[in-house]
Amino acid sequence: MKTDFHCHSTASDGTLSPDELVRRAAANGVEMLAITDHDTLAAYGALPDRPGLTLINGVELSCQWRRQGIHVVGLDVALDEATLSEGLDGQKRVRTGRAVEIAERLEQLGIDAPLEGARAFAGEGTIGRPHFARHLVASGRVRSEREAFRRFLGKGKAGDVRHCWPELETAVHWIRAAGGVAILAHPGKYRMTRTRLRALLAEFRDCGGQAMEVVSGRQTSDQTRTHAALCREFGLHASWGSDFHCPSQTWLDVGDFSLPPPDLSPVWELWQ
Ligand code: AMP
Ligand code: MN
Ligand code: MN
Ligand code: MN
Repeated sequence: MKTDFHCHSTASDGTLSPDELVRRAAANGVEMLAITDHDTLAAYGALPDRPGLTLINGVELSCQWRRQGIHVVGLDVALDEATLSEGLDGQKRVRTGRAVEIAERLEQLGIDAPLEGARAFAGEGTIGRPHFARHLVASGRVRSEREAFRRFLGKGKAGDVRHCWPELETAVHWIRAAGGVAILAHPGKYRMTRTRLRALLAEFRDCGGQAMEVVSGRQTSDQTRTHAALCREFGLHASWGSDFHCPSQTWLDVGDFSLPPPDLSPVWELWQ
């Protein structure tokens, strides 16, 4: 069965509407899909039934661990559970305040109307750095979103505001309170030493984390082997997903990635 447990819609920083995203997934042969927008479940409010494709309620929470930004995916969460809903309300307030702070910093670098620009790209969705990146591209300041992150928004740059997120264990708690499965997202993207990543996995598991993404989009088979070994070592279930955001990323599509080794316990066991 083709599955994808990590992708984004216009409810956060993706460019396809939830409906367009589900259609694209179905066209690509995906049979089980989780839309995991940043800090919101709004995509699930607007979706008509799609026979042939099972939707798993998902979300990608922003949090911090040892002052570093970390993402935790929650799958099979209840949409109307109070703890998670209140948590997501808080995340929305954090994102709004953070956007103001990012905008102030960008203005100091001579960028024109960054908040208005980013808001226009975010629309109804939760605002984030990719929306600032799109504004920087549209206003001609940089040539690509990648360059926007490299120069203005990425780690250590002016727009890297990250002191605001809840702690890792809080994010895990919200997901578990909503009956969901807590998954450490894309462990390869944190640029951690192996020692630090192992410390993160140990704490994540000890506070209720149940799975890790062994595969996130396109990655080397070396990386998959490394992640699979960590998954076994920490007794976690394995999750996987494209982390698809938009069709213009031609090297990546929803449902398009290689699967982890078959001996790992798949994350869907935890809700079936
Ligand atoms: P935020 O949620 O505001 O912290 O923004 C994080 C999002 O920015 C990620 O989910 C990616 O979609 C995007 N992102 C992070 N780093 C980069 C990068 N180097 N180039 C392009 N997009 C990035
Ligand atoms: Mn994103
Ligand atoms: Mn992420
Ligand atoms: Mn993501």
